[in-house]
Amino acid sequence: MNVIFLGVQGSGKGTQAKLLSRKYGWPHINVGEKFREHIKKETKLGKTAAEYIHKGELVPDKYVFKMIEPTLLEANQGFILDGFPRTEKQAEYLLDEFDIDVSFYLNLPEKVAITRIQARRHCNRCHKDYNLLFNPPKEYGICDACGGKLVQRKDDKKDAIEKRIQEFHKTTKKVIPLLKKACRFVDIDADRTLEEIHQDIIAEIEK
Ligand code: AMP
Repeated sequence: MNVIFLGVQGSGKGTQAKLLSRKYGWPHINVGEKFREHIKKETKLGKTAAEYIHKGELVPDKYVFKMIEPTLLEANQGFILDGFPRTEKQAEYLLDEFDIDVSFYLNLPEKVAITRIQARRHCNRCHKDYNLLFNPPKEYGICDACGGKLVQRKDDKKDAIEKRIQEFHKTTKKVIPLLKKACRFVDIDADRTLEEIHQDIIAEIEK
């Protein structure tokens, strides 16, 4: 199946996409993570993308297409998209080129989203993710898995978060009517536990 996860930052798209990928074996395509890999490797695309990402702005469509197109074309057994489409142009491209079976919209109030994002940390060595609210490390600031230092993403700091949330409301929400027209669209209450949300998603997939 080809599945899309849509939702404001902090709504749990990445976590739910990972769980679904583990259950069904469809590749999880996380666009933000792909950009972060480019930034880490200091590629030309990474350097360009970093200028937008660190300010909390969307990366222009032409760079997003350049990065994601080969991955989508390779994933011929289905895919789970996390963080794409985020603009109308991206949605039009996706819906023209691929059959999408279902879109899950993880619906979360803005205040809850901000609290969750500010509590996010990741290990700067092995990249394991934590959340100080739901999934804290055993020792403050230290990765359980490798002993690395836990840090906050630059774009998870207050100014960048506010901008990213504004972008979501101004730009990304416009893809909702396009998705509703083209595929099954499921609105999920994301202000619940990870397991409850996962079970709802599986029930929809199995329908
Ligand atoms: P994320 O980890 O999904 O929150 O993505 C981090 C950042 O990567 C976003 O704030 C954007 O700057 C950039 N990004 C990720 N996906 C896209 C996309 N589909 N279009 C434009 N920019 C994106």
